[in-house]
Amino acid sequence: MHELALMEEVRRIAMAAAAAEGAQRIHSVKLTVGRLSGVDPGALAFAFEVVMADGISQGATLDLEVVPTVCQCGGCGQRFEPVDVIHACPRCGELSSELLAGRELEVTGLEVS
Ligand SMILES: [Zn+2]
Repeated sequence: MHELALMEEVRRIAMAAAAAEGAQRIHSVKLTVGRLSGVDPGALAFAFEVVMADGISQGATLDLEVVPTVCQCGGCGQRFEPVDVIHACPRCGELSSELLAGRELEVTGLEVS
């Protein structure tokens, strides 16, 4: 399961950050997920519970922020949110390959002590 592998990576990042600060517990993890990243937020939340269940991350909470995908048209400069993986500009119809945001999955916040 894709989400489990992602969450194991998130846990690794959180553990490394906690170790760097000499923290004993991971309280919360904030994740920013792009709508086009292909992950299912519900499955992510479930995977989070599974991988964080033991050790210093036990009881940690997940703060999940889903951000819209934003494209900018190379033809007319229009910014829009594509509805599909094909990013056709709603103004001029040109296909855009320029993705400004929305494909990422990042740890954007971490609370440890
Ligand atoms: Zn355009």
